[in-house]
Amino acid sequence: MKLIDLHCDTVWKLMDLDKKGDLMENQCSVSIPGMKRAGTMAQFFACFVHVKDLAGGYEEGYRHVHEMIDFMEGQLKKFPENIAGAYSGEDVMRNDAEGKISAVLTVEEGGILNGKLKRLETLHQRGIRLMTPMWNDENCIGYPNSREPSVMEKGLKPFGIETVRRMGELGMAVDVSHASDGTFADILRYARGPVVASHSNCRELKRHPRNLTDRMIHDLAEIGGGAGLNFYGPFLGTEDASLIEEMTAHILHMIRCGGESFPMIGTDFDGFDGIERLDIPKAEDMEKLWDALKKKGVSESQLDQIWNGNALRILNALS
Ligand SMILES: [Zn+2]
Repeated sequence: MKLIDLHCDTVWKLMDLDKKGDLMENQCSVSIPGMKRAGTMAQFFACFVHVKDLAGGYEEGYRHVHEMIDFMEGQLKKFPENIAGAYSGEDVMRNDAEGKISAVLTVEEGGILNGKLKRLETLHQRGIRLMTPMWNDENCIGYPNSREPSVMEKGLKPFGIETVRRMGELGMAVDVSHASDGTFADILRYARGPVVASHSNCRELKRHPRNLTDRMIHDLAEIGGGAGLNFYGPFLGTEDASLIEEMTAHILHMIRCGGESFPMIGTDFDGFDGIERLDIPKAEDMEKLWDALKKKGVSESQLDQIWNGNALRILNALS
């Protein structure tokens, strides 16, 4: 079983939270030994900036994203036998054939563009292949998910429309996770390339503004997109637990609503804490989810699609 995980915050944890450790040895859920045991083919690493922690706001955030990319470049140089950068589906296949895990770099918090479209080009040149336009705050691109209906219905701003269009031209996937329902609809309207929800679940099973409604799953599936299953308890169903039973329910619902080409994996490893019971605490435990899904009747070929085929389709669609 070869895994592509569309979202982890391991770079953020290593650099900003723990301020120690590397991809080989750390106190994270994602590490090179763990990914090897999981059969990881590609791991998407988010350069996430929590803007409210930064005195310099989005400008400092933009500089920090470059520091995160520098850090990852250093890691790839440090462990060249084990992990290599990937910028396309082809790269992932080649790295895999050479026995290497692929690292795909992403940005989580498009506010760091701070109204400057040119920055997208720079980020693309530096290897960023997916961007999550917003986190949980309004920014220059548009509005985030919210329990407040007046925020939830608002969509992209004019700069956000330009951003989404440009991302498609450059060959950067647009990530609708964290977006408001209005932003989601606008992204689908204006996107020119692949769109995914890298780490979101089903709102029908757990009413949370970070999750996708059946209608959203349907519409996203229609344009060839998909969603990565998020392991965060409050998005699965139980506040202080991340349960396999609930993970399988969300995957089955995604298949029912969006078809077998829809579900992917987007663990959100190292992006949350405070969950008391974790059925899958680390990458190396991913096999448990595979086995649980198999028991629920998901076929081997569907599992391959969920584990890697659907994500490879997205990577292959990047021009
Ligand atoms: Zn996130």
